[in-house]
Amino acid sequence: MNDCIFCKIINDEIPSQKVFEDEHLVVFKDISPKAPVHLLVVPRKHIASLNEADESDRELMAHVMLTIPKIAEQAGLQAGYRTVLNTGKGGGQEVFHIHFHVLGGGPMPFA
Ligand code: 5GP
Ligand code: ZN
Repeated sequence: MNDCIFCKIINDEIPSQKVFEDEHLVVFKDISPKAPVHLLVVPRKHIASLNEADESDRELMAHVMLTIPKIAEQAGLQAGYRTVLNTGKGGGQEVFHIHFHVLGGGPMPFA
């Protein structure tokens, strides 16, 4: 049984405000935004954190990184944005399904 909240969002088992999705990833608004624009870029594959990503995830991780600028442009972040990846409890990670934060749209700094 999978209790992962982001897997449930990906599978539409719990609601979210999705702004983009493709075969490999889903992007939705953070429920508790730390910036005027705060998006979470989440691979569909359940990888607990960067520490659990392996060689088989190389293309997926590259795809995620290379999709972020397109998502940022679509979100109106032409002025720039901050991309954050928290890893492990000591890194501030609270949801153990790997995700990038994309923050922008106002004065820095963001969380
Ligand atoms: P982390 O600390 O793991 O890097 O970030 C987890 C983020 O997920 C937090 O910014 C938090 O606000 C967000 N979050 C937690 N639960 C939910 C949820 O159910 N829906 C959405 N949209 N965001 C969530
Ligand atoms: Zn998951």
